[in-house]
Amino acid sequence: MKDEGRRQKSKIQNPKSQIVCLAGGVGGAKLADGLARILPPQNLTIIVNTGDDFEHLGLTVCPDLDTVMYTLAGVANPETGWGRAGESWVTMAEVSRLGGPDWFSLGDLDLAAHLTRTAMLRDGEPLTAVTRHLCQKLDIKHSLLPMCDRPAPTQIESDGRILPFQEWFVKERWQPPVTKVILPEDARATTAVIRALENAGLVIIAPSNPFVSIDPILNVYPIRAMLMDLPQAVVAVSPIIGGQAVKGPAAKMMQEMGLPVSARAAAEHYGELLDGFVFDVQDAGQLDGANVAQLSVDTWMRAQEDRVRLAQDVLTFARSLAVAT
Ligand code: GDP
Repeated sequence: MKDEGRRQKSKIQNPKSQIVCLAGGVGGAKLADGLARILPPQNLTIIVNTGDDFEHLGLTVCPDLDTVMYTLAGVANPETGWGRAGESWVTMAEVSRLGGPDWFSLGDLDLAAHLTRTAMLRDGEPLTAVTRHLCQKLDIKHSLLPMCDRPAPTQIESDGRILPFQEWFVKERWQPPVTKVILPEDARATTAVIRALENAGLVIIAPSNPFVSIDPILNVYPIRAMLMDLPQAVVAVSPIIGGQAVKGPAAKMMQEMGLPVSARAAAEHYGELLDGFVFDVQDAGQLDGANVAQLSVDTWMRAQEDRVRLAQDVLTFARSLAVAT
């Protein structure tokens, strides 16, 4: 948790009003949506994990980027949190009947995005420009940036095996125990990401999986260093509530990697990066004595109004840190 002296100094020099949110898929998309409903488009940039992108059926699939994109566009499947509402599965059923690879489901509407993206990438457009184009077509006003233009794949080490992320996550239903998350050494941020961080007064780390959604973003050079050194307040929201993940493998991974499954362990994972940490009322008291500013509120975003309420709570808290001196 950031050095107090440096934090105070940094806030005095911090006149910037831009807000950057770092997000993975479902948990990240919900908070990003809450923020987007409060903040004007020119004030919010969402930087999204692309470590779980992969090629499937010859198409470039960007699961986290699409989850955030569909959520902001109001076309996400409300039951799953990923994929499109009102989806049909005609193509996938036929792929399956023809004996094609059907372990990763792509609905018909969803396929349209992957086809368009893949065609544009093959024409030489960078992923940042392709994402901007898709967002425009889906009438999204806020700025959504992939963390990288080039592939930066996350891999999972499990008992001596190295698995591409989606093979572990979807094909093997995140059951193989995780020994280590392997992140690429050569991932580089885009100019758009660097500019957004340079202009940021606040950085909000969404309640996404710290190991496979947020760490891949922090691993992209020079994002972690920029968060440490630039005059921003960095506030994270805990993805762990009451010793459990709301969804997905975060809690299981913590256990397998020898960490306590707790909000406090999530805060300690981000460590020195943080100026503030937001965690659930269920976990009140857990961070007593920790050297980080804290806010304990209801962080479970079950309904649309919860997203806005949490976003407002996080913003008010983060802004109070920025003016605390
Ligand atoms: P994925 O890429 O789709 O797995 O999505 P993320 O990494 O963005 O989100 C997964 C994490 O979000 C899990 O650790 C969940 O516990 C957390 N999460 C999901 N919904 C909520 C919520 O409403 N509140 C909080 N605090 N965490 C959530």
